[in-house]
Amino acid sequence: LFITFEGPEGAGKTTVIQKIAERLAQENIDVLATREPGGIEIAEKIRTIILNPAHTAMDERTEALLYAAARSQHYFEKVRPALDAGKMVICDRFIDSSLAYQGYARGIGVDEVLSINEFAIGKKLPDITILFDLEPEIGLARIHAHGEREVNRLDVESLAFHQKVRKGYLQLVDRYPERIHVVNADQNIERVVEDVWALLFDALQ
Ligand code: C5P
Ligand code: MG
Repeated sequence: LFITFEGPEGAGKTTVIQKIAERLAQENIDVLATREPGGIEIAEKIRTIILNPAHTAMDERTEALLYAAARSQHYFEKVRPALDAGKMVICDRFIDSSLAYQGYARGIGVDEVLSINEFAIGKKLPDITILFDLEPEIGLARIHAHGEREVNRLDVESLAFHQKVRKGYLQLVDRYPERIHVVNADQNIERVVEDVWALLFDALQ
């Protein structure tokens, strides 16, 4: 079973994934938690190219292709083999990030980015996707409050850009209503974990 977590920065995806993975392990479910862009060496290297704040000239098509390249390598090197071995795979971001950020917010087009990704990984989508929904102001404020995170190329983007990302994600919910489940990320982390756990439990029945 392939489960992906989506949403803006500062939504708490990484922390919640850790806690959910621990709980699943306690239930004796064999789980692999990983992230995008990255998760394996080649894709982590592509990540540093994409996110380098010095790369201000990067064209949005280049960006979309690099995300797809990182995804392809990560998927075939790590995700697919784990799924084939019967593991549950949980991934921090996946194709919907590309559809929302590059397809919708950057304006390339959701269908165009979808077709690049079909070339990269094939037509199969995740089984379940949890979307952490949050006002962008709140996510951005949380990031600035922590402070310890590395600077990345997205940091110069306006609030309007982040609002587009949110809108892009919510349009994906309409497009894939069976697959994508929305969680309110404007709650404390324990509540979000409980909501995600309940959603997964229902989806797994
Ligand atoms: O998930 P994480 O916060 O580590 O993502 C790294 C950065 O890449 C974030 O700034 C995120 O907004 C950005 N990103 C993007 N397009 C994607 C995936 C991530 O702009 N397709
Ligand atoms: Mg994160």
